[in-house]
Order: sequence, then structure tokens, then C-alpha cells
Amino acid sequence: MAGTFYICATPIGNLGDITFRTVEILKKVSYIACEDTRITKVLAEKYGINAKLLDCHKFNEKERSGKIISLVSDGYDVALVSDAGTPLISDPGSYLIEELLKNDIKITSLPGACAVTVFLSMLPRKNEEYAFIGFIPRSQKQQIEILKKYRSTNCVFYESPQRLMQTLENIAREFGDETKISVGRELTKVFEEIKTGTVSDVIQYYSNHTLKGEIVAMVYEQEASNIENSELLQKISLLKAEGYSTKDISKIISLIFNANKNDIYKLASSCK
Ligand code: SAM
Repeated sequence: MAGTFYICATPIGNLGDITFRTVEILKKVSYIACEDTRITKVLAEKYGINAKLLDCHKFNEKERSGKIISLVSDGYDVALVSDAGTPLISDPGSYLIEELLKNDIKITSLPGACAVTVFLSMLPRKNEEYAFIGFIPRSQKQQIEILKKYRSTNCVFYESPQRLMQTLENIAREFGDETKISVGRELTKVFEEIKTGTVSDVIQYYSNHTLKGEIVAMVYEQEASNIENSELLQKISLLKAEGYSTKDISKIISLIFNANKNDIYKLASSCK
């Protein structure tokens, strides 16, 4: 009879954050597929887990899949863990699961820590909805594109501490200094910290404080009126850069956007 494949969440910092059931299963399985055997060994030693460790990471997942499928087909129980948190959440495993499904192998998931849900569980929000985009792209253009796409909802992303300040500055430039943001750093660890405020407050804060460790962040949903205003301001700036007068700009914009000419005139007068 074929074995079972278990997807197991492991801690995201505090080694105590693993469920009894996960420890029991990791003790019971014959093999644990893991991203980095050295990291999983630390967990295994702490909890007296003796399963054989098989490295399975983004660079060898395809070739490893065949071996894992034959082990489970031969009746062995196998678990998948990542270095931290829940497998497949910005971590490898997707290809492997697809192959296991094709082979009708029984898969079950043991829930536990995940940086996104730990973070969200500490953030008061007006709206339950959120979009999780994984690691935010590095290029400024792609960052803005994806943040714009999810502007009307809470948008959660992973980022490295080295790039966070640049990303915050990109957000401030594109969406305005008053954009609300939360940054979670080192969750579940000794120096856990959540900083919430306008993007300019958060930039100011991290100019004077350490910015090390693991980061998850959220740009809060933006009001429809803010989105509209900032789009109008962008168009006004474009026309100003082309040399149009404030009077002409208010005529053009009010025609295109069906807006009040005097309001646009005021907006255009205050816009650089
Ligand atoms: N699978 C993991 C999960 O369930 O959260 C995420 C893996 S992803 C490769 C690693 C990224 O998650 C880190 O670079 C960081 O952005 C975020 N992360 C992981 N642990 C964290 C923590 N303790 N505090 C804040 N962010 C964390």
C-alpha cells in the first residue's frame, strides 16, 4: 500500500512554534524532504526526530520528485518542510505536489506558522480582504505595477531588509507620503517589531533604527477618492511637464475626466 505525503509547517523563528501533531508525524515518517538539511537538522535534534533527510530545494525539485514519488508508492510516509513556515508559501514544493497529484498519492497538510498570517493576526484592518504577492519584485517599475493592481485592497508582501527603504521610497513617490503601511520584522523572535504609520513616518523611523532580519509588509487599501486624486495629479504633472498652462490643463482634464473645471484649476495650481 502506498504511503502518505505530509506537508508540514515549521517555525518562522521561535522553535517552539510547531504543533504536537506535526512533531508526531515528523517522528513517524521515514523521510523528510527539506530545503536545507542543516536547518532541518536543528529542528530534528530539538524534537528527537530521526527520519532520513532528503534535500529538495528549488534547484533540484524536479529531479527529486521522481525519487519521492517512488518512495511513497513503495509504502513509505514522506513529509515536506521548508526552512521556515509553511511550504509552498514563497517556498518550493509546487512542482512536487503537482507530480504527486498526477500519481494519485494521498497528500495532507499540517497547519502551523506562516509569516503572512502571523503578521495579519496582529494588524487591525477595516477590511478583511487582502492580496498576498509573495516577494515584491525588485524593479521599481514592476513594484509599482503590482501595487497599483492591488491598490484597492490590503497588499501584503515579503521584502529583504536591504531593499525595504528603497521600496518604501518608491511607494511614497508613487502613492504619496500619507499612504498607510505596516512593517513586521523578526516575527516570533526576540526582536519582534511591528511599525505602522504613514510611509513617511515609517521611512523616518527606520532611518534612525536597525533594519535587519526578516520582513513582511502591508500597504493598506487606499480610498477610491485618493486613487482618483493621485491619478489626476499624475496627469496634471505630465501636462505641466509638457508646458501647458494651468488654465489649459484645467480645461483638458475637466473634459476628459468629466470633473469640475474650478476644482481641477485649484489642484493644478497646487501641483508642482
Ligand atoms: N514559507 C514561509 C512562510 O510560511 O512564511 C516564507 C518563506 S520565504 C522564502 C521567507 C520570507 O518570509 C523572508 O524573507 C521574510 O520576508 C518572510 N519571513 C519569514 N519569517 C519571518 C519572520 N519571522 N518575520 C517576518 N518575516 C518573515
